[in-house]
Amino acid sequence: MAWRYALMITPVDADAADTDFSPTFAEIDPSAPALTVGELSTQRGDGIFESIGVVDGHAQEVEAHLDRLAHSARLCDLPAPHVGQWREAVARAAAHAGSGEAVIKLILSRGVEHGPAPTAWVTVASAADFTAARTDGIRVVTLDRGYDIDVPARAPWLLLGAKTLSYAVNMAAIREAKRRGADDAVFVSSDGFVLEAPTASLILRRGDTFVTPAPNGGILHGTTQLSLFEHLEARGFATAYETVPAADLASADAAWLVSSVRLAAPVIAVDGAALPHDAELTASLNAYLLSPRD
Ligand code: PLP
Repeated sequence: MAWRYALMITPVDADAADTDFSPTFAEIDPSAPALTVGELSTQRGDGIFESIGVVDGHAQEVEAHLDRLAHSARLCDLPAPHVGQWREAVARAAAHAGSGEAVIKLILSRGVEHGPAPTAWVTVASAADFTAARTDGIRVVTLDRGYDIDVPARAPWLLLGAKTLSYAVNMAAIREAKRRGADDAVFVSSDGFVLEAPTASLILRRGDTFVTPAPNGGILHGTTQLSLFEHLEARGFATAYETVPAADLASADAAWLVSSVRLAAPVIAVDGAALPHDAELTASLNAYLLSPRD
């Protein structure tokens, strides 16, 4: 991954007037150390983030990502982000993204231990090449997430619907999937419902209806899934949010893991059993996802 740009942000209050935010931004060398040792994002994973896809310098679905950043901040009792300030930071980052595919990360941490304020920064790096995942597809295994589907309401402090920096568990799930001979995982609740992948949302196809697990607070509401549902509806397909039994995954007419940077990766096998794959439809979904989207 080649880093292209990094910007430290001094966050302003969410209700401050829109102004020239230049004095609150500091460009830094993206390959040089920038955080202090007391930083809670590194000590505790205590913070939130967003990953925004960028295509030829156009940052995709910025408002949806800023909405989710604000949602995560609420769930984590972090100060609300000033949308205008973050929008401007994203625009600056996008201007340094160059051609091809890139990823902008927004990070809002609780800050330095005993420090006065959160730490915030934005980075841009080139994206990995996901051509193989998009065209050849991926094999997934289902993994127990270790809790029932009603846990988010009973234990909101698990922060399940927030995009927190604590992704060690998600990365462990991907390693486990690889140990089992697959490319990625799909989390299943202990009472048998599909949820999401460690870094992506799940979409299933049943006939002409595209279904995704209902975001009940236990999974992230994906910006890519939202955008694809709009696109599919415009093409005349039906879409639905449902509580999806795990067995429905293996019997779907097709399935995809979708996310902002990898985009739509068709699922070609679930727990070793092949799943149908409509290469033409997937190509059209990725063509849409690669077109400029706001
Ligand atoms: N679910 C999880 C756990 C994720 O980490 C992600 C993205 O990283 C998604 C879903 C998909 O979200 P988006 O489409 O906004 O990238």
